[in-house]
Amino acid sequence: MDTWEQLAAQIRTCSRCPHLAASRTHVVVGLRPQLLRPVTLIGEAPGAQEDMAGEPFVGRAGQLLDVLLAESGLDRTSVAIVNVLKCRPPGNRVPTRTEVVQCRPWLEAQLEILDPRVIVTLGGTATAWFFGAGRKLSEVRGRVHRIGRFRVVPTYHPSAALRFGPGGLPRAALREDLKMAATVAADESGEDEIEAGLW
Ligand code: SF4
Repeated sequence: MDTWEQLAAQIRTCSRCPHLAASRTHVVVGLRPQLLRPVTLIGEAPGAQEDMAGEPFVGRAGQLLDVLLAESGLDRTSVAIVNVLKCRPPGNRVPTRTEVVQCRPWLEAQLEILDPRVIVTLGGTATAWFFGAGRKLSEVRGRVHRIGRFRVVPTYHPSAALRFGPGGLPRAALREDLKMAATVAADESGEDEIEAGLW
């Protein structure tokens, strides 16, 4: 068993959030790519369909994400997809600060293994995981940030892109930001803005 699978096996038995462990169908560990040091996408938490399937982004938001990834020259074989929380919050509510803190070591361990060239944070929760809870997505999106050893591209969650429709700002921004991430992933020489902040 390799290190990713060893970690996944540990995550699948986690019950640090007893209420989530009791209500979940599956722990959604995430998907790792086939390519070395690729792009890692970080979402918020599993929804109902992801909880049932045990995989991230399998619902309508995931289908839209696949389309936008393809337009960016990326696909599910070239990106890792993980979430801040591995278990579904009931009613798809936003994760609590306590839940995010409890689950943080799992995502840190995943990033250690994945060693991504660029990270895309999808939505406010994943963006706050890197930038701190006080930072708004609108303040940081549209640029590449250097946080520690990671290049981070903050952008909208695909569910926001669905909610605002094909002509809405989130879809255009998500498309633009995924293309930027693909470019950064292909070019190690890009300059980055220095940022800091953690939960
Ligand atoms: S959300 Fe994370 S920390 Fe909480 S029970 Fe699930 S895997 Fe464990």
